[in-house]
Amino acid sequence: MEQLTDKFGRQITYLRLAVTDRCNLRCQYCMPAHGIDIVDREELLTYKEMYRITRVLSELGVNKVRLTGGEPFVRKNFIDFLEMLSFNDKLEEINITTNGALISKNIKKLEKLKINSVNLSIDSLSKENFANITRRDVFDEVFETLEVLERSSIKLKLNTVVQSGINTHEIVDFIELTKNKDIAVRFIEEMPFNGTGKRDVYELWNFTKIFEEIKVNYTNVEPLKSPKSSTSHNFKISGYKGTFGIIPAYTRTICNDCNRIRITATGMFKNCLFDEGVFNVRDFLRNGASDDELKALFLSIVKEKPENGFIAEANRKNNKGISESMSTIGG
Ligand code: SAM
Ligand code: SF4
Repeated sequence: MEQLTDKFGRQITYLRLAVTDRCNLRCQYCMPAHGIDIVDREELLTYKEMYRITRVLSELGVNKVRLTGGEPFVRKNFIDFLEMLSFNDKLEEINITTNGALISKNIKKLEKLKINSVNLSIDSLSKENFANITRRDVFDEVFETLEVLERSSIKLKLNTVVQSGINTHEIVDFIELTKNKDIAVRFIEEMPFNGTGKRDVYELWNFTKIFEEIKVNYTNVEPLKSPKSSTSHNFKISGYKGTFGIIPAYTRTICNDCNRIRITATGMFKNCLFDEGVFNVRDFLRNGASDDELKALFLSIVKEKPENGFIAEANRKNNKGISESMSTIGG
C-alpha cells in the first residue's frame, strides 16, 4: 500500500486530531475571556467518523495519533472513543494533550488503555498566576493530575507557553520541578492563535531568549539527543531526574523534519499548523466517499504540504492574518 509522503520526501506518520472545539478554561493566549464561537454539535465529527479517518490514515502509514482540542475530556464519552481507537493495532502510540482539570480520577483507565503519553498544559506553578492565565480557578485539580500522572506508567510531558511578562519569571521554577520528578517540561513559544487577531507582545520570548534565561541560571545544561521529528530541542540539568525542552513553535526551525498532519474538530484537514485548512474531510465522508476514495484524497493532499510554516502562512487566501483560536485548530 502506498504511504503518505509529501513532495519533499517527508513521510507522514503522525495525526493530531481535535475531538472538540469546546473548552472548560479560557487561557489568555488561546481565546478571549468570553470564549470562541463554538460550532453546532452536528458540525463536529462524530466518533465513528474520527475512527474511520484514523483507520484509513493508519493504512497509509500513520502510526501515532494525538487527541487534542479544545479540551478532549469535555466531550462526552471521550474515554470510550479512546477504547475504540486502542483496537486499531496499526497505531503504535495514542497520546493526549489536555489541561488536566477534569481527569485526575481517570488516570487508571488511561493506563489500562495503554495511553502512551499525556501532555499536560500548565503555564504557572502559582495558584494566582494560573487563575490569571486560564481565567479559571482550577490549579489544585491540574496539579493533582500532574502528581497522579507522575506516579503512573504514562509518560508525562508538561506544555508551558512562555508569555512575555506573565510567566517568564517562573521558567526556573519549572526547571526545578524536573529535579526530583521524571517529567519533561517543554517551553513553547507563544503563537498568535488566540482567537482575537490581535497580539500585544511586550517582549519577544523566542527560543534564543528562553534558552539564555536558562543558561544565566544554570551552568550545567546538557543537550540531549532527540528523535528526528521531535518538535522540541531537549536538554537536562546534570543530575536532575527529568528533562526540559524548548519548542520553537513560532520561529519554526523544526519544519524540515515535520511528520504531522492535523484534522480539526469540524473535519478540516490541515497540512500545517499555519495553513488555513485545505480540505473538509467531514463533508467528503458525509457525501458517501468510499475508503479507496478517502485514501486517494489523503495521498494527493499530503503532496501539497508546504515546505514550512512561513510558506503555509504566506499561502493563506484570507489576508487578514491569523485570527483563529488554537482551540479550533487542535494544538
Ligand atoms: N485543552 C488542551 C490543553 O490545553 O492542553 C488541548 C488543546 S490546547 C489548544 C493544545 C496546546 O496548545 C496546549 O498545550 C496549549 O498550551 C497550546 N496553545 C494554545 N494556544 C497557544 C498559542 N497561542 N501559542 C502556543 N501554544 C498554544
Ligand atoms: Fe482550553 Fe487548551 Fe485553549 Fe487553554 S489552551 S483555553 S485549556 S483549549
